[in-house]
Order: sequence, then structure tokens, then C-alpha cells
Amino acid sequence: MNEELDQEILEDVEIPYEGDRDLISGLNVEWALYGLLSGLRPPPDLTISQWAQNERILPKTSSSESGGWENDRTPYLEEIMDCLSPQHPAEDVAFMKPSQIGGTEVLINTGMYYAKHDPCPIGVFQTTEKTAERFTKQRINPSFSAMGLDKLMSGNNLYFKEFPGGSMITGWSNSAANLRSMPLRVALNDEISGWVEDCEGEGDPCDLITARTENFPNKKRFWCSTPGTEGHCRITQKYLAGDQREYRVPCPWCGELHAWKWEYLKWDRDPRGKHLPATARMRCPHCRYEYREHLKTELMSKDSGARWVATNPSGLYPSFGLNALYSPLGWFSWEKMVREFTTAQGNISKQKTWTNNRKGEAWQTEGLSVDGDGLLGRRENYLAEVPDGVVLLTAGVDTQDNRLEVEVVGWGKGYESWGITKKILYGNPTQPQVWADLDAVLLAPYRMEDGTELYVAAALQDAMGHHTDEVYKFTGRREHRRVFSSQGRSGAGRPVVGKMSKTTKGKGASLVPVGVDTAKDQLFEWLQLEDRAPGYCHFPKNEEYGDEFFKQLTAEKKTKRYRNSLVVWEYKKTRERNEALDCRILARAAVNLVGVDLDKLADLGRPYTFNPARGLARKKRGVRSSGARQ
Ligand SMILES: [Zn+2]
Repeated sequence: MNEELDQEILEDVEIPYEGDRDLISGLNVEWALYGLLSGLRPPPDLTISQWAQNERILPKTSSSESGGWENDRTPYLEEIMDCLSPQHPAEDVAFMKPSQIGGTEVLINTGMYYAKHDPCPIGVFQTTEKTAERFTKQRINPSFSAMGLDKLMSGNNLYFKEFPGGSMITGWSNSAANLRSMPLRVALNDEISGWVEDCEGEGDPCDLITARTENFPNKKRFWCSTPGTEGHCRITQKYLAGDQREYRVPCPWCGELHAWKWEYLKWDRDPRGKHLPATARMRCPHCRYEYREHLKTELMSKDSGARWVATNPSGLYPSFGLNALYSPLGWFSWEKMVREFTTAQGNISKQKTWTNNRKGEAWQTEGLSVDGDGLLGRRENYLAEVPDGVVLLTAGVDTQDNRLEVEVVGWGKGYESWGITKKILYGNPTQPQVWADLDAVLLAPYRMEDGTELYVAAALQDAMGHHTDEVYKFTGRREHRRVFSSQGRSGAGRPVVGKMSKTTKGKGASLVPVGVDTAKDQLFEWLQLEDRAPGYCHFPKNEEYGDEFFKQLTAEKKTKRYRNSLVVWEYKKTRERNEALDCRILARAAVNLVGVDLDKLADLGRPYTFNPARGLARKKRGVRSSGARQ
């Protein structure tokens, strides 16, 4: 039978799930094949959660609790397993999970259940070969052995097990070869937010896996992961496309159902402001009464009325989201959640880990509002105009109706930066004086402690705002000094500096496109750093870098909106004046115009001392200049 037609028919018919599987098995060759192999048995009576309760034995080696599986221990997993059961019509199921919630056991239970009770081709997919190997050796194999299922398996290939009526292959997201070989009815996909965006040029690994399951009428695809960074987080996207279920528990005071959200968790501080995580308790959003964690087991149980509630009923498939507040008693406590939260403050990588693994949410750069006051407070007294560590100077220029603003920035290893000078040059840009003042800033020597002089190696000026013609005129005559006009381009994923083009303005001035969102993402991450590291931003303690400078530098906030249920980020001004930010972004982009390797210069201890203005003069006299020297 024609395969396309086959699919069409299958999509039109209501697929019977209760005992009629052999009715439809004739419609699909692979289906029939596997049906034959499995002896055309009807689907099992038990769902996965029922099977787990009756039969699953947890191995001693890999679980925190060995012995028989108890659904009551992790009652929120029951419905997820049941959606993955052959009796349930869902083809896709997404689970956005924190760590220490038992999420991986869902995947293992599902794999074992199908291998034993509804054998078919099963795929288990991990991020890399290394994680696949670890997962197979430490989780899958001991689980199968603990129940004697390993005796069903033939062959001793780590990544391919055969059993009567089916097989289980293990693959990883960055190898196209093992994502596209054989058809699969059940695909269990773990930690998908960590998977490569593109698998060896063949596209999204999730799409490759989906394609492998398409021929089966009763396919199951389980997408399971802790979240990553929003905008690039697959599990967040899969969760949002689904019906977005949250697990609601009854309030012990008023009985109203509510989800356990981080913002409902309260704790005290001592008189000196020290956090007291041991006082953690939940505040009911309905009656505002509070309760402690010892009620957790009781409140989460199905008997108490706790249940999953879809917050987006029109979603395409069941999608589940949890955080570590649901971690069973004895696994991970509310107290520990608060303690980790408070100790992560000020440490970006710890905050991100906490957000992903505990809060069960994607890390949002939106939350990264930079504290201008904090930056003001950590200005430094430089030992020289240009501190040691700087190997290159660049400048960014912002044009206004009554003034030009310019910042000269010093760059070191790993884009560590030093504000050198920030000037506001008042004057009407239609008149020459303010341009002469700007030229003086761009041409001046800047001195290091040992007397070495550095010059602005490249500068960019925004040509798309005020006085476009004057900007082109100014830069057009100074391109030999790497002074260029620029145009900001918003949108994720743009390069900091795009391909330069020629204009007809200012006697053929060039225009440099600047990926402003990319540069802002980078800058705002750098501004979060509190200790010297690649990207760390230094500022001098002087009037140029005062309160207003930092207010402007932090004058934009990343906000998100949804377009076709996909997250779209954009920067929005939080105050009118943001010239300091614009100057800084342009100075950053100007680094790319110089074509030097900052890390190499820093390692060699050789700052870029070339003076672009003098270089030209020498050239005019017929002396060859070869760029960077001294
Ligand atoms: Zn209440």
C-alpha cells in the first residue's frame, strides 16, 4: 500500500486503543511486522504507572530509594506515565523538570514497560555519546537487571538490545548516523535542552527523531529535560506548545487548589537581615495562610485532591512542568531550596543552575536587570589613564541634536574592558566646532603607567539618528583611521558586526551594520560579573563615570513577547537617555574592525600602539606601514 495514502487513512480514522490493535495493524507494514513479531497480542491492560506500581523494582545501585516502585512517593509522575501508555492517544508528551523529582525514572519505566508488555522498536536518546554511555551503564542496565529483564535481551552491544518483538537502541543528539537509521515507535528523549541545535548539518535532532517515528500509528515521543536558556530552550518550547499542566495541591486551610510556585514560598530574616532558610513555608495564594513542608506528602497525594491542571487547554499535546518544591520529603527540602537561592545571589552561574535545576525554568536574560548603583559602587582608582591589562582602544560615538557623546574603551584579554574617557561635546552638529572636538578625542594619545601611548584604533558613530549627513561627512573622510558610520540592527543571532556596505553619502562613506541585540546580550552578561574574569567591566572613579553614566548604561531591559507561541526578545528603554549604552555598544563593535586577536596581544604583553593618523602621514611620505607594531 502507498505509504502516503496509508498515513492519510490513519490520520482520518479514530485509532482504537482498547484491544483492537490487530484491526489496524494491517494498515502499516512496519506496524504489521512488529505485530507479527509480538504475536499480535492486544495492548496490555495496565498503564505504565499501574505496571510500575505492581512490578517495577528499583535497583540498589542507582536509586536513592531501592525496592518496589511506589506511585505515592511521586504522585505527580503517574499522569505523565499514563499519557505515555499505549492506551492514551497522545503521540507527544513533554516534561519540563527540575532535578531530584524522579523525572528520569519516567523514561526508564516507559522503556521497560514497552520492552516487556508492548514490544516494539524503542529509541533512547541522550545529549552526547558520553552521556549515552553513562545513562546506559548506570541507569538502564541496572534497572533491567534488577527485574531480570536482561535475560530477555540478546546480543551484548551497549547501544543496541534486542528482545522478542522489539529492540532498544541508544543514540545521542550530535550524531546524525544514529538519529536516522531505523524506524522507531517509541522515542524517549532525555535532556533535550542540552542537545545541539543542528545535527551535523542535517537539522534539528528532535526533527530527525520525529521523522523516524512517523510511520507508526501509535507512536510515542517523550520530550524530557531540565530547562536551559530561554530563547534556545527546547523543553520550554515543547512545554509552551503543549497544554501546560501544573500540579495543583489543596491548601490545608481553605482547601483551594494551587500550584507550588517559588513566589509563594516565604521565609524570615533575623534582625541583621540574615536569611533564615529553616523558616521556609508556603503561603496559599487564595487565603494567604501559611503552612510548612511536613504536610507535603499528604497534600501532593491524589487522595487529597491534588491533580494536574492544564493552563493552556488548546495545547497540542500533554505538557507537564514542575519545580523542586515538589521534590518528595527526604529528597530535596524547601529549606535547601531557599538556602541555595540565597547563596547563589551575585553568582551568575549559580543563579542559572538554580533556576534550571530547582525552579525548573529556563534562565532568562530578562531577569538580568543590571544594577547601576552597584556598578557605581565598584568604580576603581586607575594607576594611569590606561590601566595595565588594556591592549587596544576603540571608541563609540552617539549623535544628538545639540551634542555628540563619545566613549573611549580599553580592551584586554577575553574582552575584559576599562572605561577610559566618556565625554559630552556640546555644540550644534551642523557647525564644525563640535566635530573638531570629537576629532581631538579620537586622535589623542592615551598613556599607560610605563609611558606607552595608545591611540583609538577604530571608532563607530551611529548614522541613523540625528544629523545623518554630517555623520557620513565626518566618517567618510576618516575611514583610513577606521572611523566608520554604523547602523544598529536588532534581532537575535545577528553578528556584532555585519558586512560593510558603501553609501552615496559623504563622498561614498561606508556603513557598518551592528547587531545591537547580540552586543547588548554580551554587555549585560559582562556587567553582571562581580569579580575579574573575561568580560569584566572596569570603570574609573571620576566625574565622567558618575551616577548619570551608569543610569544610561543600564537604561534598557530585555523583555519578551510571544509570536506564534515562540519567545521573541527585544530591548526596551527603561528611561529616555541611554547614550552611554549606545556609545559602549559601538565601541565594542569597533573592536571587530581592527582585526587583531585581543588574547594574543594580551599574552604577548604587547598593546596595540599603532597610531592610525600617523600611519597615513607616513604613507603619504612613501614610508610603508604594516599595521600593528612595536
Ligand atoms: Zn488557602
